[in-house]
Amino acid sequence: MARKVFWEDPYLTELETRVTSVNDNDITVEETIFYALAGGQESDHGTIANSPVLQARKEGREIVYTLEKGHGLKPGDRVRVTIDWERRYRLMRLHFAAEIILELVYQHLRSVKKVGAHIAQDKARIDFEWGENISRMFPIIEEQARRIVEANQEIVSAFSDENAEERYWDIGGFARVPCGGTHLRKTGEIGEIELKRKNPGKGKERIEIFVCEHSG
Ligand SMILES: [Zn+2]
Repeated sequence: MARKVFWEDPYLTELETRVTSVNDNDITVEETIFYALAGGQESDHGTIANSPVLQARKEGREIVYTLEKGHGLKPGDRVRVTIDWERRYRLMRLHFAAEIILELVYQHLRSVKKVGAHIAQDKARIDFEWGENISRMFPIIEEQARRIVEANQEIVSAFSDENAEERYWDIGGFARVPCGGTHLRKTGEIGEIELKRKNPGKGKERIEIFVCEHSG
């Protein structure tokens, strides 16, 4: 099973490792920085041994990478794994913006139920079962999120159960939440958060989350 270096160091963009198995165009590696879709956070883009990774998927606790035909790799080969950092960093910023917004929604609307979430490179979204217009909460939630970002608070990420690969993030005085995604180190990295309400109806409300580009 690949050691998930993206948890120990979510800022690492290149890694030397070894191939542990090859099954046609699917391979596994000893250690990896290449995240595979989980918890709503999309997979990374990147390469293994200069071959573009077409798909990354979780199989239990293993991550299987699909390469192009004719990759020529065999078990034991030394390979370099690279990820598209611009994409990953946007995913990390949107992911953590979504974490903060979700936590604030829970803190304000005790009986709300999350029914879906997705983190893409351009925006994140969270879906709720909620019978009212959720955008009524936006002014207070946006203001509280802005204060957390401006305070540039430390985000601690660690295992709650290492054998089961269960992880959490923690911001002192705010929240501790189970999540196996890749997390920022400081809330200030998120930048300005913007919320939009989408697709209301059938008792469901969607919050779309955007982060602005850093000015400097
Ligand atoms: Zn998370």
